[in-house]
Amino acid sequence: MARVLGLPDDIRACLFDLDGVLTQTAKVHQAAWKRTFDEFLRRQDPAAEEFSSADYNEYVDGKPRKDGVRDFLAGRRITLPEGSDDDPADAATVAGVATRKNELVLAELEEHGVQVYEGSMRYLRAAKEAGLSAAVVTASANGAHVIEVAGFADLVDARIDGLVAARDGLRGKPAPDTFLAGAEALGVEPAQAAVFEDALSGVAAGRAGHFGFVVGVDRVGQAAGLAERGADVVVQDLDELLGTTT
Ligand SMILES: [Mg+2]
Repeated sequence: MARVLGLPDDIRACLFDLDGVLTQTAKVHQAAWKRTFDEFLRRQDPAAEEFSSADYNEYVDGKPRKDGVRDFLAGRRITLPEGSDDDPADAATVAGVATRKNELVLAELEEHGVQVYEGSMRYLRAAKEAGLSAAVVTASANGAHVIEVAGFADLVDARIDGLVAARDGLRGKPAPDTFLAGAEALGVEPAQAAVFEDALSGVAAGRAGHFGFVVGVDRVGQAAGLAERGADVVVQDLDELLGTTT
């Protein structure tokens, strides 16, 4: 049955990233990061170079929030103290910058809700109808909330999100830990699971975990980068896979 989904025959489960794969929230995250970092950099140096789309794709997308803060600022040769989770949003600490970014994301979700990708919803329903199981594997600490608001919680058999990762000490993408936990939660071996990812760090995690198939979802014109980091196939929307054979 996996064949009608454009997947190898032995695939039994799908591990979907959330933001940018199932929901259009990657744009929300990117805008929140840009505002957070631009405000922060300008306080340090009014002439600082702005946070760019390339910065988002290379340093931040798909990673746990604090890893994104550290990795982007390291690229600018800035090291901040870690601080603590109750630091105010204007604190010059990793925790403070991460808090500011999350405040902006939550305000945006509150105001505008969550939009899904309709092609991804068709694919998710087709996968379930074909008898495959589905997990959402996301670095987002807001994963449960986003799935609930988007209205497809009934199609998701397991969820590994930022809160689960923190609780269980799982390393974030590009490490494969969270995808491996997703496969385990669905009771399949990595070789029986397909990973669906829009982030460079995410397809790298798929390759690192030796999953049966890695689908790169190119929403921003980085198909070559996704293929290079580990995607077996790159599509612009998941429903391109329906009716194809691998
Ligand atoms: Mg993503």
